[in-house]
Order: sequence, then structure tokens, then C-alpha cells
Amino acid sequence: MDMPSWQDQKLGTMKRAALWLVAEVGEGNVFTKSQLRDAFPDTSQIDRRMRDLRDFGWQIATNREDPELEAHEQRFVLQGIPVWEPGKSTRPSTAISATQRREIISRDGYICRSCGISTGESYEGSHELVQLDIARREVLQPDGSTAVELVTECKRCRVGGRGLVADLPAVIEGVQDLGAYEKKLLAGWIAADRRELSALEQLWAHYRSLPGASRDKVRKVLESNEG
Ligand SMILES: [Zn+2]
Repeated sequence: MDMPSWQDQKLGTMKRAALWLVAEVGEGNVFTKSQLRDAFPDTSQIDRRMRDLRDFGWQIATNREDPELEAHEQRFVLQGIPVWEPGKSTRPSTAISATQRREIISRDGYICRSCGISTGESYEGSHELVQLDIARREVLQPDGSTAVELVTECKRCRVGGRGLVADLPAVIEGVQDLGAYEKKLLAGWIAADRRELSALEQLWAHYRSLPGASRDKVRKVLESNEG
């Protein structure tokens, strides 16, 4: 599908900001506040519209999440839902009630469905407490279409910048604590530079990251095949 131009004035500001990121900045690259203002000179709320994109799975890091950035810089980490496509940009803040929010987080077991961290924990190597939020996730459906479903995600996963600080000593310590069999298994994965997951484990990992409505569908398929 052809992408519309970010300069198309008929589109809303959030959509144009998303298109600008893709067309002019590119994933992984840094942009400055003045570049953004120059691109959208008539829009006073451009920073807010840019932040709104995070509700649609877009990861845009500031210097809070990415210490390499200066205060006037942001990094376009990852593209999210293509909000310029029809029906994909319903505002989540107005669409999700407080009750719905509680229900979704409870159904998701109070864990971030992207990294598995749970509420009340702090991130490894920091005192920052986990805050859970609702994200929209595009889920490929059995009929080939995509649906946008709500899922619990922690603030870090939503913003991007997760895993920026790697902890080598912790990994080495963990390796030293392994038994002989586990060490051999790990050495095999390292040599192949990939972990051979069993089909069951792969299914489990995929199942676990699905939003609640989709997890229910999988459960129903299993139940209908039982006995
Ligand atoms: Zn997370």
C-alpha cells in the first residue's frame, strides 16, 4: 500500500507526524526538536501528537530512556501501527475506560505481555518501579486480516529503550552457576547463535504475548479438541 505524504494537510497531525518519522527520520535515527518544529511550523501541539503515537505501539525515546540522547533530541526507535490507514487510529485514551483498563490488566495477570515483568517489581539494575499500561497490538487473524487488540505492557516497553544497559557480569555469573548439562546445552546454542526451541515452547511464547481476547480463542481451540 502506498503511504500518503506527511505534507498532506488533509491528514490529522498525529498521522502526519507518523509519516514524517517514517519518510524523513527513519527507524533508529535521531531527530531534534527544531527539526520537528520546522516540519510542522503551524502546529503548537506537535510534541503531544508525537507522544500520542506511543499509544499505537510507536517507540520514541527521549534522553530519559536513552542516555546517549541530548535533551533536545529524540530517537525514532520502532514503528508501530500504521495510523494513517483507515480505521487504525481510534484514540485509545477516549476508547478505554478506567474499568476496561483494570479488566485488561487483571486478565493479563498483572504482567507486561512484552517482557514479562510484573507490577510491583523494579527493573533490573535500577530502582524504577514497573508501571503497567495498556497498549494496542496488531494481531494477525486466522483469516489473514489484522485486528488491533488491547494488551498490558509496561511503560519501558511502550517507550522503547528497554535493554539499553546490558549487564555482562550478571550473565557471566549466571553461566558459572549452571550445571554441567545446562552448560553444554548453552554452549550448543551459543555455537549456533540461536536457541532451538521446541515447537511447544515456541507456541507457548507466542500464546503468552497474545492479547486476552486472542488468548481466549486459543484456549477454546484446545478445549474443543479435548477428549
Ligand atoms: Zn515490559
